[in-house]
Amino acid sequence: MTSIPSIWRKSNQRYNLDGNQCLTCHQEFFPPRTVCPACGIKAKLKHVPMPRSGKIISFTEVFSGPAGFEHETPYFMALVELPNSARILTQIVDSSADTIRTGARVQKVFRKISDIDPEGPIAYGYKFKVLSETKKA
Ligand SMILES: [Zn+2]
Repeated sequence: MTSIPSIWRKSNQRYNLDGNQCLTCHQEFFPPRTVCPACGIKAKLKHVPMPRSGKIISFTEVFSGPAGFEHETPYFMALVELPNSARILTQIVDSSADTIRTGARVQKVFRKISDIDPEGPIAYGYKFKVLSETKKA
């Protein structure tokens, strides 16, 4: 059973792209953790919103999705690097396949994640799409 604070935390993370900044080394990362990956100690962390756009540093086409995503296959998953150096694994939506490439600029969009959400009431969250300026007509 999921507690209310846990649902709230997850929703904040999914809706606002809340990550952490380490107050010791100032590195920012996503998703939020309790230990700084750079310092390796229980440094003081604060919640910070992540930048809303970044660029694709690697991607893969998924032909066989997990439960709840079958109807969406094939789809693209990408590792996106944000201006603050945080990296986010995200689905790429609303983008034609020929615009999805390494280095493409992407921005956060708010989309339905799944019809069947194992975590209950929250079925919406972040995904990214390729910015239209990088699209070839
Ligand atoms: Zn740190």
